Amino acid sequence: MKTARASRRRYPRQAASGTTRHRTRANDRLAWTGLDLLNGEIVPSLTVLLTTKGCYWARRDGCTMCGYIADANPDAQSADIQKQLFEVLAQYGTAFKIVKLFTSGSFLDQEELPIDARDAILSALADTPKVIVESRPEFVTSEICGDVVRSNRHVEIAIGLETSNDDIRDSCINKGFTFRDFVRASKVAHSDGLTVKAYLLLKPPFLTEVEALEDAIQSTHDAAPYADTISLNLCNVQKGTLVEALWKKRLYRPPWLWTAVEVLKRVKPIATIICDPVGAGTARGPHNCGKCDRQVILEIKEFSLSQDSASFTATCADQLLWKYVLEFEKFSYGAPLVP
Ligand code: SF4
Ligand SMILES: [Zn+2]
Repeated sequence: MKTARASRRRYPRQAASGTTRHRTRANDRLAWTGLDLLNGEIVPSLTVLLTTKGCYWARRDGCTMCGYIADANPDAQSADIQKQLFEVLAQYGTAFKIVKLFTSGSFLDQEELPIDARDAILSALADTPKVIVESRPEFVTSEICGDVVRSNRHVEIAIGLETSNDDIRDSCINKGFTFRDFVRASKVAHSDGLTVKAYLLLKPPFLTEVEALEDAIQSTHDAAPYADTISLNLCNVQKGTLVEALWKKRLYRPPWLWTAVEVLKRVKPIATIICDPVGAGTARGPHNCGKCDRQVILEIKEFSLSQDSASFTATCADQLLWKYVLEFEKFSYGAPLVP
């Protein structure tokens, strides 16, 4: 960690923003359907990407792995944003048990999503059993949660905690808030009857593979009392970010899928934990040797629905190499041993 943090200072907070697409904007789709867990049951879900002016933190400083701001529209108006949702609902219908609304920022930030748009969107989904929105903790206040509940009682607030370690969140991610901020937001949301999801980031830059593994496990233990669900997000290399600059210099490698499997198996007894490995199996995404990636990705997705560690059956010769990396990467001063 010391070496990692020292080298962090040689780079800007975030590289110049590029023309990347949102991590979840696969094929430039604005909405897609899937399956998710709701109260232990596998149910159909709809994910909707709403284009707003984007995350204020990204405009001001930004997190080291996040290129979402490239998807923003600085001129987005309230009526346009509402129209985006209603067009998706007209196409896909409203029969989904879970609807996820992603804005590439904070749904609860009134500067990003005007109040009338927020309330109209949540009211339109009042009969959906679970509506997931994302927000930084500073927008999770009693006043805003009260407004949210008046429009929709089934909202879950997903917060990008990333790690419970303030030092890593500050030095490696530049997130701009503390674990205490997350705990406060969680308590406020729960006191209004809302649920909370914590996003944890597996392998922020400047951590070795084993440090990343241990951090994700510790963070799950720390966040579990305050989160109804944990989502383990495997870091991928987005364009225009500091992570990309490091990756291009061979100073960053996305996490091994084996590391994700290890975390999921070890924290299962203490939390409901899901994982959707975005970009997995590619050089920019979490990956193994290439031969076993597909199978491991499928097993991670299966585990996310079943919450059963028996989902993990894959084996591959590269597990030996992965174990070698866990043991010896600390001697390479933070540089990945294997691409
Ligand atoms: S990770 Fe979240 S808080 Fe950080 S810049 Fe991206 S959208 Fe904003
Ligand atoms: Zn393999």
